[in-house]
Amino acid sequence: MITGRYADVIVDISHEKVDRPFQYRIPQPLLGKISPGMCVVVPFGKGDRERTGYVIGVTDRPGYDEDKIKEILRIADKGVSAAGSQIRLAAWMRERYGSTMITALKTVLPVKQRMRAQTKRRISLAVSSGEAESIIMECRRKHQNARLRLLETLFSKKEIAYEYAVRTLSVTPAVIRALEEKTIIAVSSEVFYRNPVREAAVGAGAKEQTVVYSSQQQTVIDHVLADYRAGRPGTYLLHGITGSGKTEVYMELIAGVTALGKQAIVLIPEIALTYQTVSRFTSRFGSRVSVMHSRLSAGEKYDQWERADKGEIDVMIGPRSALFTPFSRLGLIIIDEEHEASYKSETMPKYHAREAACELASYYGASVVLGSATPSLESYYASETGLIRRYELTKRLTGGQLPQVYVEDLREELRRGNRSIFSSRLQRLLEQRLAAGEQSMLFLNRRGYAGFVSCRACGHVMKCVNCDVSLSEHRNGRLVCHYCGYEQPAVTVCPECGSKYIAAFRAGTEQIEECLHRMYPQARVLRMDADTTRRKESYEEILAAFAGGEADILVGTQMIVKGHDFPNVTLVGILAADLSLHAGDYRAGERTFQLLTQAAGRAGRGKKPGEVVIQTYQPDHHSIRYAAAQDYQGFYAEEMGYRELLGYPPSAHMLAVLILSGEESTGRELAERLVRETAGALSVSSYREKKVQVIGPAPAGIGRIAGQYRTVFYGKCSDMTALIYIKDRLEAFLDEQKTQGESVQFDFDPMNSY
Ligand code: ADP
Ligand code: ZN
Ligand code: ZN
Repeated sequence: MITGRYADVIVDISHEKVDRPFQYRIPQPLLGKISPGMCVVVPFGKGDRERTGYVIGVTDRPGYDEDKIKEILRIADKGVSAAGSQIRLAAWMRERYGSTMITALKTVLPVKQRMRAQTKRRISLAVSSGEAESIIMECRRKHQNARLRLLETLFSKKEIAYEYAVRTLSVTPAVIRALEEKTIIAVSSEVFYRNPVREAAVGAGAKEQTVVYSSQQQTVIDHVLADYRAGRPGTYLLHGITGSGKTEVYMELIAGVTALGKQAIVLIPEIALTYQTVSRFTSRFGSRVSVMHSRLSAGEKYDQWERADKGEIDVMIGPRSALFTPFSRLGLIIIDEEHEASYKSETMPKYHAREAACELASYYGASVVLGSATPSLESYYASETGLIRRYELTKRLTGGQLPQVYVEDLREELRRGNRSIFSSRLQRLLEQRLAAGEQSMLFLNRRGYAGFVSCRACGHVMKCVNCDVSLSEHRNGRLVCHYCGYEQPAVTVCPECGSKYIAAFRAGTEQIEECLHRMYPQARVLRMDADTTRRKESYEEILAAFAGGEADILVGTQMIVKGHDFPNVTLVGILAADLSLHAGDYRAGERTFQLLTQAAGRAGRGKKPGEVVIQTYQPDHHSIRYAAAQDYQGFYAEEMGYRELLGYPPSAHMLAVLILSGEESTGRELAERLVRETAGALSVSSYREKKVQVIGPAPAGIGRIAGQYRTVFYGKCSDMTALIYIKDRLEAFLDEQKTQGESVQFDFDPMNSY
């Protein structure tokens, strides 16, 4: 039991500059009842205004003059109280990624307000019939008509629904409360939790297992569970192509851990969180499974939180934020598709779910399993350096062979006079599919900016002389590097081959759809992109229509690469493999490899073999070569060499400091002061030896969003602690500054360019 007399409280006033705990005395009646994570009401500031706050610690020693310490008023009934470990995680996130404590707390407590739980309330008489009769007579005499209506009804019906009293009898809640307080009537309530898992999906639970695991699957299952049972929880990387049985392994591991009375969190990228996926888990674990996703109502989210808090569920499935499910017996965290960029938060604190999961797991002695067909360089590097264990699943268990992949050189097509979006091979194969009644998918890689400048004759891409990333064309026509700010005038002829076919790369799904209609008027085409999926359900509707054979060709952006299985798809065309190569950041090659590998994996999932056409201007780029060869290790080795050479993560670490400002000049000035401060801080610290490289400041790639100018600079260093030190020093520096509405964000090992 916690017996401390003082509590350290973080007060919820994020708009003011208060970012440290305040100490409060715990009043006599609350002694022993206050614990970390609780939400309390305290007097704050000169006027002692009532504020809510989170208790982050309880102590017996006053930190100030005893007389000046104010008292906690009460435990707040608003706001979900967090477990101590969530507060601890918030404190870690604050320190590791930079943000205020309140923002970090709000991140780990995503259900901000206690929603009123859904209840069914009923009213009944709390007095004998004799007493009731005399009260009714008194009401009649005093002309208390509402009371009269209610009591007369109760006299004859014994019990009515609360809603009936309010709506039909027009009795106000105040009247009901008054009668309840006088114990003339009683109001009972029964709580209902909304369950977002559709009833049909919840099978009997614990369905009989008929799967015989492959020896590769069995090895992972045995090792992970044996480690866990022996009190040696670990982090594991499960590297296996789509269809190699990773999900089956996850479920068996969950079964093993829940059998010990523990709970599991399964992170799945929102886009892959389909009905199909969730129902696989519910048919195995029944109603002990719940799901969180952005389409749930606030009430549904709150209820899942409550069910988890009360220990009514064992398995939570959801995107990044499901990590913060308040489980008190956490035993296992699974991160599927761990390479996905969506696991990194884009708002402060900019945490990575993989790192936060490992931290959280350490509080509980839980294990972490990372799964992917194309692991992030970070995770694979960790497995190569022995930090985490790696297991490979190399066989596709549903049958079906790996597809045949062709790389089509678009420069060559141009030379032969083919100026259409489709290479001659892709046209030939499309026609075959249409004739045979088989389905095709055309994938337009639209990730990153379309602003890079390339030559259609030789494939040359304009790059920064310092950073080896693509230059982007700005509206003023200049070519700019978004890391270091290097600029040069636009070019009209290719510096490599002299061709005049050099320009910013642009293409859209609509153009492709039109082109298909022109070339194959008989073909039924479905399009899926940000425009056609704006409505809530349209994403699943389009996929379902295509799966149901309602179209011959599905055209889309990276959205079509994930989720559903389409056994009748035997051809996948990747139209602009190069686009994501030139997103202007150091992860572009990795992302391209992942996208191409995933897209290629969509072909030939059924009985018929599949073919894949990758169209590119750079057939020699390692991301494209290795994706075509389905060779992860080859890709990893070459990409890692490049990261090591240039000091990019995971061989070193990078901190992006983003400055947002209303005026371009003030943002620039603040950025320059921060760069000077960084240099100054480093020169007098023990990190002087660490060779932190500071790059920039430069205008960000997207220089202005919602009226705010964005300026960015970077720090690179092999030692993460040196970068965290810089962040701390800059935070302290900013605290003392009178800024003019500028704000500063930190991002460690960024996923995207700014
Ligand atoms: P992944 O998650 O790697 O894509 P899944 O676990 O979804 O792979 O498995 C792909 C398919 O193979 C599923 O239909 C699954 O039921 C099936 N499967 C997995 N493991 C086995 C097994 N040991 N024996 C038979 N079928 C299996
Ligand atoms: Zn050229
Ligand atoms: Zn540069």
